[in-house]
Amino acid sequence: MFNLILFGPPGSGKGTQSEKLISKYGLKHLSTGDLLRYEINRQTPLGKEAQNFMDKGHLVPDEVVIGMISSALDDNPDAKGFLFDGFPRTSAQAEALDNLLKLKNAPIAAMLALDVTEEELIKRLLKRGETSGRSDDNNENVIRSRIVEYHNKTAIVADYYKQFNKVVMIKGEGSVDDIFKRLCVEIDKRA
Ligand code: ADP
Repeated sequence: MFNLILFGPPGSGKGTQSEKLISKYGLKHLSTGDLLRYEINRQTPLGKEAQNFMDKGHLVPDEVVIGMISSALDDNPDAKGFLFDGFPRTSAQAEALDNLLKLKNAPIAAMLALDVTEEELIKRLLKRGETSGRSDDNNENVIRSRIVEYHNKTAIVADYYKQFNKVVMIKGEGSVDDIFKRLCVEIDKRA
């Protein structure tokens, strides 16, 4: 099994690059943001709980997202590998993921971390908000809270994987195709 984490702040291009990566490498895409929005659209109890946090730009509690990822892993026993997008976002999530993957004997091959300046992130998110229908993208205060959450809780997740030499920094600015090529070069070294 070949598992990758695509890492980076909100608006760094994880969703866009994930689509291209899963089709090239045949991985199963696990985006906690997408899984949560699916629950919200169906107005499930989990979705309703998550929405309160997401609307404020806060992270959803660890036990909620860890439970979702655990079920998604169990639902895909034949996957060639997983591309984790937007997960793990806290140290507790990183440790939980390691434990889940240990049970499957399937470690993380690499964490690919997209590097984008804050100014560019805010510009991209506001632009996405014009068309995405995502309420967390068209309010600058919510966007800023998401970036604060990223700095306070998520950025340290990279340190967790650094101790295992698994972090690869990728310049996340330029054309979509150029960024994709940079990602592929690093993945091909490890595949
Ligand atoms: P972005 O990376 O652009 O913020 P996502 O779709 O990944 O977009 O996430 C949207 C929101 O969903 C986050 O602001 C957060 O509230 C919630 N969320 C997504 N993934 C997680 C996670 N792993 N842990 C906690 N909250 C999460």
